[in-house]
Amino acid sequence: MSREQQAVARARKAFETGRSKPLEYRICQLKNLQRLFTERQKEIVDAIKKDLNKSEQGAQLYETLGLEGEIGLALRKLKEWAAPRSVEKNLLTLSDTVYIQPEPLGVVLIIGAWNYPWAVTIQPLVGAIAAGNAAVVKPSEVCVHTAKVMEDLLPLYIDKELYPVVTGGVTETQELLRQRFDHIFYTGNSTVGKIIMEAAAKNLTPVTLELGGKSPCYIDKNCDISIACRRVTWGKYTNCGQTCIAPDYILCEPSIQDRVIEEVKKSIKEFYTDNPKTCPDYGRIINQHHFKRVMKLLSDSTIAAGGQNDESDCYIAPTVLRDVKPEANVMQEEIFGPVLPILTVSGLDEAIKFINKREKPLALYVFSPDEKLINKVRDETSSGGMVANDCLVHFSISSLPFGGVGNSGMGSYHGKFSFDQLSHMRSCLIKQLKMEGVNSMRYPPHTAKKLGW
Ligand code: NAD
Repeated sequence: MSREQQAVARARKAFETGRSKPLEYRICQLKNLQRLFTERQKEIVDAIKKDLNKSEQGAQLYETLGLEGEIGLALRKLKEWAAPRSVEKNLLTLSDTVYIQPEPLGVVLIIGAWNYPWAVTIQPLVGAIAAGNAAVVKPSEVCVHTAKVMEDLLPLYIDKELYPVVTGGVTETQELLRQRFDHIFYTGNSTVGKIIMEAAAKNLTPVTLELGGKSPCYIDKNCDISIACRRVTWGKYTNCGQTCIAPDYILCEPSIQDRVIEEVKKSIKEFYTDNPKTCPDYGRIINQHHFKRVMKLLSDSTIAAGGQNDESDCYIAPTVLRDVKPEANVMQEEIFGPVLPILTVSGLDEAIKFINKREKPLALYVFSPDEKLINKVRDETSSGGMVANDCLVHFSISSLPFGGVGNSGMGSYHGKFSFDQLSHMRSCLIKQLKMEGVNSMRYPPHTAKKLGW
């Protein structure tokens, strides 16, 4: 048996003992996970620093704080989430008990991505544990140091049979995908998303696919351009542009393009100084492969700001591109780097047409003081999530489902949505063996007289 097969078999066996199901056990595991974050904060942030050059505060702000919040929420709400959910009855079941009982699915495979390695790998695990499942955790191999810390630390805190960590790359992931799971929760790019779904189909395993795409950002000429650009600059260059919900490109009218460029430049300077390369808050591209990929995207567009780079350090300065054509390289794939293209459109209608001609994005941003305009964007487009007058922050609201639609993914999670996503909602009808008379109508012979027709 391969290492991957063994881990899955052990998790299955542990699940079959039934020990993941009692709420007390789930709570105990979640508390242990919480303890991991308080006791091992240093190892966690050191690894993130090595992998992505995130500062200690940045790592806490964008990774561990949110996770601790999600664990805390699950601990407070688990009893409520796991309780039977009563539903409306119909005439024939008035005297019966009818409810939905959430139940664990079984063994879940969680495949994480590298850009926020703890958040996107452990947040689904919080949902899996809360819902009473076993889970095999496969961190991204791209974050070498974080994957090692996860592999070393998780078994010290949570049940290592129920929640094993399997490290490795494509070969190991594909070996895992040959095993049978009860759910696969994948975060990563859409191309691999299709491989995951194909593998899952062999066992009719349901999937959650948290994918990416090009998230557009429309800036209305009547908004406070300075504030809008400050927020967009934050959303774009955080984690060096390697955020699944980063605003990918800006759409605006030609009359405000210069102003937008100036304001973005001002904010870049404010956040990352005149020399982002030496600024502790400015990240790096994850590896040389992605460095080369992002640099290629710049080749056929006009640079309005930034563009400086250093391959040996995987550094690309915060970059703005102006008058970008829809056919330009940078518009053919998700950028996933610190490059902000600006495309000009004649107005909102053209922007909406532009967005609707492309795949449904994970996020859609609009900046405007006009509620009608915001509602028009909401009603005439589709995306995983939409935010008016800010970027990224919807990710942090546990009461909103986080996920994509169409090419940006399927299924959603965070807070109670994670619990529901990784539970089976079992329909339960508990009848009495009394009142048989009520049933006589349904038993043959079906005579008109009996039915009262
Ligand atoms: P990645 O390279 O780390 O891949 C993700 C996982 O897929 C890894 O665990 C890897 O082992 C596995 N994998 C890669 N190739 C595979 C193959 N051929 N077969 C089987 N498994 C394979 O991460 P990535 O895909 O570069 O991540 C970036 C993408 O993820 C972006 O598109 C981003 O938008 C998206 N993303 C989405 C979310 C979200 O919540 N929706 C969050 C983060 C990232």
